[in-house]
This record gives sequence, structure tokens and C-alpha cells, in this order.
Amino acid sequence: MAGTLYLVGTPIGNLGDLSPRAAETLEKVDFIAAEDTRVTLKLLSHLGIKKELVSYHEHNQRQRGPQILERLQNGESCALCSDAGMPCISDPGEELVRLCAQQGIPVQSVPGPTAAMTALALSGLSVGRFTFEGFLSVKKGSREEHLASLKEEPRTMVFYEAPHKLPSTLKDLLRVLGDRKIALCRELTKVYEEVHRTTLAQAVAYYEEHPPRGEFVLVVEGAPPKKESQVSRKEALALVQQLCGEGMSLSAAAREAARRTGHPKGELYRAALEKEE
Ligand code: SAM
Repeated sequence: MAGTLYLVGTPIGNLGDLSPRAAETLEKVDFIAAEDTRVTLKLLSHLGIKKELVSYHEHNQRQRGPQILERLQNGESCALCSDAGMPCISDPGEELVRLCAQQGIPVQSVPGPTAAMTALALSGLSVGRFTFEGFLSVKKGSREEHLASLKEEPRTMVFYEAPHKLPSTLKDLLRVLGDRKIALCRELTKVYEEVHRTTLAQAVAYYEEHPPRGEFVLVVEGAPPKKESQVSRKEALALVQQLCGEGMSLSAAAREAARRTGHPKGELYRAALEKEE
């Protein structure tokens, strides 16, 4: 009978987040496939577990994957761990899971923290619908293509980024998406955990003055509603009047109603003016 591949989530900064089930699984499997054996060895030493470790990372997964698969087919069980968080999420694992699925090898999850979900929950932005974008490519072409595909994305977007690349990524996001709300979630679950809720323009200025340190997840607000408005012109006009009633100037109220409803600002302004006269 084939063995099982266990996807074991590990802490993203706080060892207390390792689940008892993760520890039990690391203890019971025949061997562990680790992104970096030195990192996983430290975790095992902390848990007092001694276990065979094989490396499985971006650069050896083509050769190593079939070797792990063969051992699973011969009945051994394996835990897959990345350096931190969930395997497969911007980390090695996807290919191994696919191989197992193709060959009918059982795969089970032992979930743990993942930086994307942790940041999203902390962001204070809309979390009903979201997209996970991972890292933007450093290659200009694919980076621009990725960014352009997000211009009209209405859902909240989650990005991973390394600190030294953060300033240029913020500038690119601002250039392509325009100014939006952003939550920069830093050093999650660690001593200096911090959530900086601001806008893209302010973040660009801030990180020029304050060089970023530590690990970051960026949670960016989705695009405002599309031009083809679902809101009738009558409702949009009523909104202009309501905003004026709340103290806004006619021009500001027309701009804000246009942003919220997708109706052209000039049209709303003129129609409201005619009504007033
Ligand atoms: N598999 C991991 C997960 O489940 O979140 C992600 C691995 S990815 C190679 C590493 C990136 O995740 C970092 O560059 C950073 O963007 C994010 N990250 C990981 N740990 C983090 C933490 N404690 N605080 C903030 N971001 C973190």
C-alpha cells in the first residue's frame, strides 16, 4: 500500500504556532522533505525529534520529486515542510502534490499559519473576496503584464515582497493602480509585528525615508466600481444631493458620486445644477 504525503504547515515566526498535530506528524513519518534541511533541522531539534531529512527545493524538485514519489509508492510516508508557513504557497510543493495526485498517492494537509491569510485578516480592508498574487516577477515584461492584469481587479489583492524590493514594488503599484488603500503587514507573529495602514502614495513617500526591514505582506484595496454603473442616474443624482446636504460643495459631491457610481462627473454636476436652478 502506498504511503501518504503530509503537507505540514510550520510557524511564520512564532514557534508557539506549531500545532500539536504538526509535531505528531513530523514524529510519525518515515522521512521529511524540506525546502532547507538546516531550517527544518532546527525545528526538529526544538521538538526533540530525530528524522531523516531530504532536501526538496526549487532547483532540485525535478529530480527529487520522482525519487520521493517512488518511496511513497513503496509504502513510506513523507512530511513536506517549507522554511515557513504552508508548503506550496510561494514555496515548493505544488509539483510534488501534482505528481502524487496523478499517481493516486494520498496527500493530506496538516495546516499551519500562512502569511497571506494572516495579513489579510489583520489588514482592515475588505476580505469578502480577495486574490493572492504572490511575488511580482523581477523580469520587466512579466512584471508589467502581471500589474496590467490587476488594473481593474475589484477584489482585495495580497502580495509577498522582500524588503529590499519593497520601495520599487510600491512605486510600480502606485503607477499602475493609482492611489489606493494599502496595509503593509510586517514581521507577522514576531516580536515586532506591525500593520501600517496607509495609501500607496503615502507608503511610497514613507519607505523612501524609512528603509524597510523584515518580512512584508502587502494587502491592496481592489479597483473602484467599473464605469458601466449599476446605479441609475436618478440614484446617482440623489447621492450628489445627499452629499451636498452633508456639507460638500457641489463639485466635490459630483466627483465623489461619480467615483462611487461610475456616472461621469460632468454629467452629474450639470444635472444637479439644473435641478438647483
Ligand atoms: N509559504 C509561506 C506562507 O505560507 O506564507 C510563504 C513563503 S514566501 C517564500 C516568503 C514571503 O512570505 C516573504 O517574503 C513575505 O512576503 C511573506 N512572509 C513570510 N513570513 C512572514 C512574516 N512573518 N511576516 C510577514 N510576511 C511574511
